[in-house]
Amino acid sequence: MSYEKILKNLGLDEQDYKNGTLAVYSPTDGSKIASVPEVDGAEVTHMIGQAKEAFLAWRDVPAPKRGELVRLLGEELRKSKEDLGKLVTLECGKVLQEGLGEVQEMIDICDFAVGLSRQLYGLTIASERPGHFMRETWHPLGVCGVISAFNFPVAVWAWNTALAIVCGNAVIWKPSEKTPLTAIACGKIFDRAMKRFGTAPAHLSQIANGGREVGEVLVASPDVPVISATGSTRMGRIVGTKVAERFGRSILELGGNNAMIVTPEADLDMALRATLFSAVGTAGQRCTTLRRMIVHKDVKDKLLPKIQKAYATIKIGDPMEKGSLIGPLIDKDSYDAMQNALAQAKEQGGKIVGGERVLSNEYPNGYYVRPAIVEMPAQSDVVKHETFAPILYVLTYDCLDEAIKLQNDVPQGLSSCIFSTDVRETEYFLSSLGSDCGIANVNIGPSGAEIGGAFGGEKETGGGRESGSDAWKGYMRRATNTINYSRELPLAQGVEFNVD
Ligand code: NAD
Repeated sequence: MSYEKILKNLGLDEQDYKNGTLAVYSPTDGSKIASVPEVDGAEVTHMIGQAKEAFLAWRDVPAPKRGELVRLLGEELRKSKEDLGKLVTLECGKVLQEGLGEVQEMIDICDFAVGLSRQLYGLTIASERPGHFMRETWHPLGVCGVISAFNFPVAVWAWNTALAIVCGNAVIWKPSEKTPLTAIACGKIFDRAMKRFGTAPAHLSQIANGGREVGEVLVASPDVPVISATGSTRMGRIVGTKVAERFGRSILELGGNNAMIVTPEADLDMALRATLFSAVGTAGQRCTTLRRMIVHKDVKDKLLPKIQKAYATIKIGDPMEKGSLIGPLIDKDSYDAMQNALAQAKEQGGKIVGGERVLSNEYPNGYYVRPAIVEMPAQSDVVKHETFAPILYVLTYDCLDEAIKLQNDVPQGLSSCIFSTDVRETEYFLSSLGSDCGIANVNIGPSGAEIGGAFGGEKETGGGRESGSDAWKGYMRRATNTINYSRELPLAQGVEFNVD
């Protein structure tokens, strides 16, 4: 199917993707596939005003009713899953199965949010005063700004928007400038849900396509009380600081440097399978990609040859083609960053297998690489840095404490896992003495989290949480209420005022 047909199926008109100022390239072959309209600073400011109006109306709609809009969004996403999944593949280069999987995650979070719309619970609290009780209530915050990265071009919007909308907020989304088409498609899908719902205020969810300047306007605005920003640590450092300066709230979902510890008690076949999915999936361009394997010195020579053998059979190619398991990197900059990291790794004593460019004759402007495995003598600087490409560094250890120390000795704190069948090892890894990451797994790789749990990480990953569990609290404000149902007015700390 031609890509214009996919765009048409999704509801895009030519004015949505032709004659704009923002050029869109497909990483598959580097060809220009669209030029979409961008907004400028003044337009973003106008959009914020419109979103505020929408919020003032929406906050008063009962939460379960708000959930109905998200239920309809989930239905519309189900109808568009095939087309949107293909567009994700075309625009960001992940293989089709992953493109479809990303849309499924959007559907899952809608289902979760619908249930949540009846569960925005607060506590009731015993008061120390007779004839009183206390409770917590949760209220919408206002306009929620969502800034997203290229590698999950649509799911990040859904994770934030499904929750923000049931929580009673309005949303303005600044997608990655590398993936504006899928964003426009999501806007059309949302519009169809709005139409079916009928009575939701206009401008409840808007899209502001453009470069970082567009994001900067959202970040600076006191009318956007919460900013959820997904992307590099470099971006998060700026955004987090700017939002904090105005006492706004930020939900930061930044870079990861995720590890797997493989102990002598591990099921090595399981470790192998998990490594393949986690280290090479999405061509190493997931925030949760496995980047460091910390393997016991007695196990390395059993496991590493198996991984190298499996790597040699993985099909690299057009992400739309059946059977391809690794698609292209997003662009040349990404390829250059990978080669630069490999050169540094070599200087720092690394032994490299793979990592070279492939298919350059067929795709002179598409950047396909063989995933790299790099045995390192130590956890040097390059290993501590997140390179957004398929490089797996391999380190060895002697005792579990050493492995955990290595795993934690990086600036990032997103995802981690241990492969072991010894419950003492696995529980130790999950304890306060173990992994310092937001996600810690046992006998499953670090990538591909389920939406039911809170998603996010510590340290330079930013500390934010999205998706399941009680992540919804990030999109609401808490009020503590004290209610006096007696005829007395006892004052705190025994203070007495004599009033006649
Ligand atoms: P990026 O930081 O280059 O861009 C992300 C977004 O931030 C883009 O929309 C960009 O326009 C915007 N932006 C950049 N500077 C800004 C500024 N000063 N103010 C406002 N907005 C600004 O990231 P990328 O290359 O698109 O994505 C890759 C990175 O994202 C990796 O580091 C990856 O680990 C991370 N990531 C993290 C998660 C997570 O959940 N932790 C998920 C996906 C990606």
